Amino acid sequence: MTESPSGSALVLFSGGQDSTVCLGWALDRYTRVETVGFDYGQRHGIELECRRRVRDEIARRFPAWGARLGPDHVIDVSSFGAIGETALTSGAEIEMLSTGLPSTFVPGRNLMFFVYAAALGYRRGLVTLVAGMCETDFSGYPDCRDATLQALERAIRLGTEIPFTIETPLMWLTKAETWALGDRLGGDVFVDLIVEETHTCYRGAREERHPWGYGCGTCPACQLRAKGFAEWQASRAGLQAASR
Ligand code: ZN
Repeated sequence: MTESPSGSALVLFSGGQDSTVCLGWALDRYTRVETVGFDYGQRHGIELECRRRVRDEIARRFPAWGARLGPDHVIDVSSFGAIGETALTSGAEIEMLSTGLPSTFVPGRNLMFFVYAAALGYRRGLVTLVAGMCETDFSGYPDCRDATLQALERAIRLGTEIPFTIETPLMWLTKAETWALGDRLGGDVFVDLIVEETHTCYRGAREERHPWGYGCGTCPACQLRAKGFAEWQASRAGLQAASR
C-alpha cells in the first residue's frame, strides 16, 4: 500500500487480531520492524504461542514483509500480575464491575507496556512504537484512549529526551474496519492468516473454528471479533453488488 517504506518501528505484538493487523501495517511502511511481547502471567499461554506462529506465517506468506521483520523480544513482566488480580491473570469470572470497567481491565497494563517498549526501543534504535489500542469499539479501558496515549508519548519523550512516536493505526477504526484494513494490506492471504493464526478470546479457547477464527464465541472479545467480521463481510457483499 505504502509507496516507499522507510524508517523503523517496534510493534507491541500480542498475537491477537489487532496487533497482527498493526504488524502488517508496520511492515507495509517501515523497512525494519521488530516486535515485543509481554509475558505477564496470562491465564492462557496460547497468546504467546500464537505470536510465534503469526510471525512465521507472515514471513512465509509475504517474503517482502519477511525481509523487513527483525527480532522478536519477550519481556517477563509476571511480577505485574502479582499486583492486580483480574479476570485475565487470575482466572476470575469476566464481568462488569461496580467501577464500570470489565473485570478484564488490568490497571496500568498498557502504560507499563509502553514504558518497557520505549526502554527496549531506546536500546534498539527504534523510536516509533506501534500498538493496536482502539477507542471506537471501546471496552471501557481508559488506558486505550487516544488522550492517554498522547500524554504518555509526551511523558516518554520528556523522560528519555528521544523523540519517540506512538502510532495507533486502529484508534478510530471499528472492528469491521480493522478487518477491511487487513484485507487492504495483504488481501485474502492476510485475512486467512488472521483467521487461522491469531488469538483474541479472553478464555483462551481454540477448540472451535468460526468463520472469524478460533474462540469461545461468547466472551466480550469473541463477540466483538465476530460482530466486526459479520459487518465487514456484509459491507463487502454490498460493495460487490453495487459494482456489478
Ligand atoms: Zn472468547
